[in-house]
Amino acid sequence: MQHNLVLYNTLTRKKEKFEPIHPNMVGMYVCGPTVYSDVHLGNCRTFVSFDLIFRYLLHLGYKVRYVRNITDAGHLEGDNDEGDDKFAKKAKLEQLEPMEIVQKYTMGFHDVLRLFNTIPPSIEPTATGHISEQIEMIKQIIDNGYAYETNGTVYFDVEKYIKEYNYTILTNRNLEDLLNNTRELGGQDEKKGRLDFALWIKAKPEHIMRWPSPWSIGFPGWHIECSAMSRKYLGDQFDIHGGGMDLAATHHTNEIAQSQACNHTDPAKYWMHTNMLTVNGARMSKSAGNGFLPHELFTGNHALLQRGYSPMAVRFFMLQAHYRSTLDFSNEALDAADKGYKRLMAAISLLDKITPSANSSIQHNIGSIKANCYAAMDDDFNSPILIAELFEMVRVINSVYDGKQQVDEKTLADIKELMQHFVCDIMGLQDDPLGGDGESVDNLMNVIIKLRNEAKKNKDFTTSDRIREELTAIGIQLKDSKEGTLWNKI
Ligand code: AMP
Ligand code: ZN
Repeated sequence: MQHNLVLYNTLTRKKEKFEPIHPNMVGMYVCGPTVYSDVHLGNCRTFVSFDLIFRYLLHLGYKVRYVRNITDAGHLEGDNDEGDDKFAKKAKLEQLEPMEIVQKYTMGFHDVLRLFNTIPPSIEPTATGHISEQIEMIKQIIDNGYAYETNGTVYFDVEKYIKEYNYTILTNRNLEDLLNNTRELGGQDEKKGRLDFALWIKAKPEHIMRWPSPWSIGFPGWHIECSAMSRKYLGDQFDIHGGGMDLAATHHTNEIAQSQACNHTDPAKYWMHTNMLTVNGARMSKSAGNGFLPHELFTGNHALLQRGYSPMAVRFFMLQAHYRSTLDFSNEALDAADKGYKRLMAAISLLDKITPSANSSIQHNIGSIKANCYAAMDDDFNSPILIAELFEMVRVINSVYDGKQQVDEKTLADIKELMQHFVCDIMGLQDDPLGGDGESVDNLMNVIIKLRNEAKKNKDFTTSDRIREELTAIGIQLKDSKEGTLWNKI
């Protein structure tokens, strides 16, 4: 297979040519969500970024096994083995079984990713479904001398590990600084070293999610699930391991240590990290409480939002930034993305209305636009550059449609294929679920809104309320604001 894909490897801090371990096959593992509450838009950005990567690898002809886990146990509130179990706490709060929490938010996660038109992973393993694999791996780490048990809890021995391996290989942090920034061991601490982390945790009496193990009745630590499940489905070493940048310093650093201590190999050849979605410069996160829920964005029901945006406009907004750049959330940026998305889709719908001529008069070389599109994606999945190239194509399509230029049949077919491949297959954009081209739906809605406003002005509230109610019944919501009445799909 001939290709020039280059990607940024966090492990080496440089762009590298992509060469899979087994020719033509790619094993990719991405850390999935912790399903104890709704996914926010930041989480979605990471999964949409990996969807773009997955789609491009498929487009290049690779056979990809994409594994993305569901964390449904073992993730405590602090990333360092402290705090309550996130599921048990939420279960208590909502008066549900922990597994009801898991089911509810897993379904919500799938619904949201479906709206964003992401392709489901090949395997979506859960932590609770792989307890025996995790126990097996912990046993091997103990046998290899890199873990110890204290009172039923098993810790990874980082002090021992750092004597033989580079513990901070992924982030290149200075070990001294890391030690200085880690809190001192307390008198009650069961750990031997400050950086040691739990592989297995003995359950306190009130802890509901618990399993038997050789050490205690307890539950696995958060990091071991990804090591055990990636090994089970992708082998000791696979091609790509991904996740959000916030996971590199602790979760992924510990995953590498576990795999080295167990299998004597780095788990992944390439580590890829997506940058964060921010709100006014601060990382969007569940715990910081600045998380937009996708549903709030689609409906516009949020104090910071002027109106709602369709899932495809939001997907386009995300793809307008490179996955390694931060992306700041704002109404203006979303408005611009909405326009851009509609322009792109409108151009695609025009393609079917163009009648080819005998000869082509366009100056642009479609072949070179196509080469530029591939070059953008081959350069570490550079979607903003790809979008710029596609807008070049949109200008050509619009001028042909306006009769300023002509295309022959072959050129028209090439343009159609290019748009299909890059806009639909690779960027994963599709028509707004409302159907029709965005522009005519907008025009129709403007007529309806005008009629409703006239009814209101005439104090005919029966009609104005009826318009609103009937629109709600078919999934369209009106929102009155100082800019006038805005609408969006619920
Ligand atoms: P969590 O459910 O918190 O375990 O996160 C699921 C995924 O979303 C992880 O890969 C995180 O790194 C990623 N993530 C969390 N917050 C953000 C954010 N603000 N922007 C982008 N990705 C994020
Ligand atoms: Zn993980």
